[in-house]
Amino acid sequence: MPEILEVESARQLIEARALHRSIEKVHAPDAWFLKRGLTPRAVRSALQGRELTTARRRGKLILVDTNGGPVLGLHLGMSGRVLIDGEAAGDPLLYASNRPESAWHRFGMSFADGGSLYLRDPRRLGAVELDPDEDRLGPDAFDLTLAQLRAILTRSRAPIKAVLMDQSRIAGLGNLLCDEVLWRAGIDPVRAANSLDDVESRRLHRAIRDTLRILGKRGGSHTGDLTSQRAPGAHCPKDGAPLIRRTVGGRTTFSCPLHQV
Ligand SMILES: [Zn+2]
Repeated sequence: MPEILEVESARQLIEARALHRSIEKVHAPDAWFLKRGLTPRAVRSALQGRELTTARRRGKLILVDTNGGPVLGLHLGMSGRVLIDGEAAGDPLLYASNRPESAWHRFGMSFADGGSLYLRDPRRLGAVELDPDEDRLGPDAFDLTLAQLRAILTRSRAPIKAVLMDQSRIAGLGNLLCDEVLWRAGIDPVRAANSLDDVESRRLHRAIRDTLRILGKRGGSHTGDLTSQRAPGAHCPKDGAPLIRRTVGGRTTFSCPLHQV
């Protein structure tokens, strides 16, 4: 499932390959995929003839600016990938089915130079919108300062993991990354957010930064040390204690009962 690291790879791919190419035709075959009242006709007339100029990101939302037109918001959902000229980010595989009529291409555009950008989404949980409300999202996890994190923690008695996953508070952290972050920080996922002391919140802040950097370098949110142990009978890679599996914030959560306190 795409988390912030996969979304960042997709953003980088758009930045490297899709900017400043003239949009000849917009393909919006799936009206369900267009959100907030957007219609295939409206998205075509808003984008055709323009160029993408900048690719930004806030959490898991990709924001693409256009010359004189709206901001194009792309959500990858649970299974979405961005394909440019048939190639996906972080994936050397060339998708043979990079055709407008492919059933999994929910949205896309062909460029005047013959290339294309597609959002390929087998599970159809992604979305496209124009001029998305960026402020409904909290600060991006990559840019989160210690002061911002402390302010977020003191305001909530909810389990720390649920707070970290709440996109309106911190944008970008999903289930796998949160488990890895809390495991690295040595913090029990069910602890009340406002129960963390200064030392613990500093440790948590460092763990968020380290997790994004290290897993980003390794190639994605599935490459965590704890992530590989997400199975029954697994042990903590740090101290060998049997891991426990619980549901926190509605999501399956793995943690170590020995060093996560
Ligand atoms: Zn442990």
